Amino acid sequence: MLCNMEDDPRNIAVHEAGHAFVHALLSIPFTYVTIIPDQNVNHYGDTALGYLMPNWSFCGKESSSNPWRDPNDFTICFMEDLGIIAGMVAEMLYRKDEMNFTGSKSDLKQLNHNCRNKLPASIRNKYSSFLIAYAFNLLKQKENYYLILKIAKELLEHKTLSYDQVKKIINR
Ligand SMILES: [Zn+2]
Repeated sequence: MLCNMEDDPRNIAVHEAGHAFVHALLSIPFTYVTIIPDQNVNHYGDTALGYLMPNWSFCGKESSSNPWRDPNDFTICFMEDLGIIAGMVAEMLYRKDEMNFTGSKSDLKQLNHNCRNKLPASIRNKYSSFLIAYAFNLLKQKENYYLILKIAKELLEHKTLSYDQVKKIINR
């Protein structure tokens, strides 16, 4: 999700494409991803410029609706975290400059309530650093970054894409 920034639509598309790419890569289904701003998706008081609508709520919240979610399963939690951080990281790669964290603050808040929250306080900061470094290395791989740009291009053209459409774009 990207919030409340006067911004180039391409930045928004790449941000949302980052979320969508990781979800499709790791086979975490979602309902849709969009770059149509939504006043009603009011996350922490901000208007969403674009967002990915998950199928299930994530583990920081009640996640009983998620059929494959074991609250103790770190792997799944980590996969979800990668999906959350991927928007900011994709945007960072695309902008090639200092990251503006403001637009991604709802993503960062969501992260704080996910995996990290279940870890001992002493390793939380290490976990966050590891997650960001891992996501950065995954998304900057040439073929992955190419696919993110491809999803972003389709998003700019069609505004909204389904999980199946994104899967098709990345050939998974
Ligand atoms: Zn985001």
